[in-house]
Amino acid sequence: MIGAGTFVLDHKAAKAIPREDFLRPPGAIDEEDFLYGCIKCGLCVQICPVQAIKLSGAGEGLGFGTPYIEPREQPCDFSCDALQCVETCPTAVLNFIPFKDAGLRAVESATAEPGADLSQVNPFEVQKVAMKQEVKMGKAHVNKQTCLAHNMEGFKGKPRGNEFKGIYRSPQEDAASASPLRDRDFDREVCNLCVTECPIGETAIIQVVSRSGRNLIPRVLDGCTGCGVCQMVCPTENASIVVEPS
Ligand code: SF4
Ligand code: SF4
Ligand code: SF4
Repeated sequence: MIGAGTFVLDHKAAKAIPREDFLRPPGAIDEEDFLYGCIKCGLCVQICPVQAIKLSGAGEGLGFGTPYIEPREQPCDFSCDALQCVETCPTAVLNFIPFKDAGLRAVESATAEPGADLSQVNPFEVQKVAMKQEVKMGKAHVNKQTCLAHNMEGFKGKPRGNEFKGIYRSPQEDAASASPLRDRDFDREVCNLCVTECPIGETAIIQVVSRSGRNLIPRVLDGCTGCGVCQMVCPTENASIVVEPS
């Protein structure tokens, strides 16, 4: 018989439950190591300027309090420009090293080109782009059954309606910070919002001619970072483009 005040060990809560379906923030190490190494400090949550990162709830075992992203509601749009969540993580379960290496390589190659006009090379810009491109949270996949472009349909209006709260920095504008998706109206003969709003651009997603030769459809490439902006902006009832975590 268990008396009052007796501590009952909840084995489920004590277990590490890897969540391969969770989109972790940029630079997250292997899921099982992540569960043990993350100290749930929440610094990555606090520093993200678009508040893309949430902390998981009870019922996640040792994953309780670990950070994840729900891209349909609020993706990581890279508007911090410097992977601030990675830089701020005190335990390096968001690992900065691959990004530092990518930035260094890019700056070296931009400045080593024969005849390069070094006064035109902004190392910070070069490093910034290379670091973003190095992110691999997951990869987006298109559902051909529901994608408007695959069905030769256009889109006009606000993709997620007037009440939607998600924000991002559209590549179509030269803005310094993110603004609400609901403030933008689109008018596309053939839907291509996932392509035009992708913060990474043509190394991540392009439009290609469909097999029938009758339409332009989105194709996700290996440069996709899994940021999820496409998933947020897709106007179909359930997103027709969804990021699968790495
Ligand atoms: S900053 Fe690092 S240690 Fe802290 S909650 Fe985020 S991932 Fe975990
Ligand atoms: S935004 Fe959605 S519906 Fe439009 S082309 Fe992309 S996947 Fe298809
Ligand atoms: S296609 Fe672009 S917007 Fe979509 S997840 Fe990949 S990088 Fe992000």
